[in-house]
Amino acid sequence: MNLTVLGATGSIGASTLDVVARHPDRYQVLALTAHAAAEPLLALCRSHRPRYAVLSGVGEDRDLRRRFSETRTELLFGAGALEEVVTHDACQAVMAAIVGAAGLPATLAAAAAGRRVLLANKEALVMAGPLFMRAAHAAGAKLLPIDSEHNAVFQCLSGNPLRSVRRIVLTASGGPFRALPLDGLDGVTPEQACAHPNWVMGRKISVDSATMMNKGLEVIEARWLFDVPPERIEVVIHPQSIVHSLVEYVDGSVIAQLSNPDMRVPIAHALGFPERIASGATPLDLGAIGQLSFERPDHARFPCLQLAYAALRAGGTAPTLLNAANEVAVAAFLAGRLPFTGIARVIDETLNDLAAAPAGDLAAVLAADAQARRAASALVMARAA
Ligand code: NDP
Ligand code: MG
Repeated sequence: MNLTVLGATGSIGASTLDVVARHPDRYQVLALTAHAAAEPLLALCRSHRPRYAVLSGVGEDRDLRRRFSETRTELLFGAGALEEVVTHDACQAVMAAIVGAAGLPATLAAAAAGRRVLLANKEALVMAGPLFMRAAHAAGAKLLPIDSEHNAVFQCLSGNPLRSVRRIVLTASGGPFRALPLDGLDGVTPEQACAHPNWVMGRKISVDSATMMNKGLEVIEARWLFDVPPERIEVVIHPQSIVHSLVEYVDGSVIAQLSNPDMRVPIAHALGFPERIASGATPLDLGAIGQLSFERPDHARFPCLQLAYAALRAGGTAPTLLNAANEVAVAAFLAGRLPFTGIARVIDETLNDLAAAPAGDLAAVLAADAQARRAASALVMARAA
């Protein structure tokens, strides 16, 4: 299978290439992309020998092009090249692992071209869920969730009809601040927020996990991926991150998927589907783990979760506004311009200030995204002043 990896220099990109390298007989790498990380991308090209590499955030550079050609890789520049490498005739599957709203156009193009889409870029579905699902359906694209929770739900559903499902339960670790005294939250640093207890991930999703906006985005993602209304999607805190999610059926049976917290498990599942292939993950040793615990989320500690449910219920571009405001607020927090507790406040105020519109096409979605970015940036500036 010929594979394009969008976001190859990221955390999901690294795990994907690790699994791919274990199965050289099954997978060939067609293209690898990064935004600006030229040296890490070149190193990946040396080991994986793709036909194409893309630097989406860099303009034409002859010197770089020459250096990549030494690995027999053709280097392409600019965001337009992302769509080129996913719609290329030889491309059969796309790992969509760009972080944030920037991933939407290329991920949507892959779905619209009928590729097998391994979907890590949850922001694409949050911003444009109905649009994205319609495009995938019309083109016959196979969507395979990479987010560990959604991959778990996909496995637990295993083709059963939706009418037999009572609810979906997404697990959440609660992040690094689950037990911190509430008045300590204001002073936490980006380094503390990025030190996730169970997973090593990119910085943006690590902060989202600390605020639990990640789980809010995942509720929205689940709503569109599985066509289940918000009132039938629940969240439970599970600090060990061993049970990745559960599906409850109308007869009272609850099916869960378990593994050690290692993204290579859902990645291998999606790469191999419908077969099973080795992932390299350490086998689960329940005797050594001893205890699995569960608790209800604390909404005072994690206001972002309720903000996400509210945006999902409001519909139209409300989730797009939520996602954009979150990206601006998280970037400001990571840059030391906004306290941790300011993230939820900026999102809340942005959603109060802006009216959601119908999300009929990509242009409407991108306009809402831009509008929320402006509003949220102004709120961040006003707070810093
Ligand atoms: P990282 O920050 O580790 O990597 C992001 C990747 O996207 C890099 O290759 C980066 O390139 C590229 N990129 C960044 N900005 C742009 C842009 N504007 N245009 C094009 N490419 C860009 O992210 P993660 O791997 O952690 O996450 C990727 C996606 O997967 C996110 O949507 C996240 O929510 C989702 N996900 C991640 C999980 C994880 O365990 N990490 C778990 C579940 C979902 P460069 O290196 O040049 O900056
Ligand atoms: Mg997840």
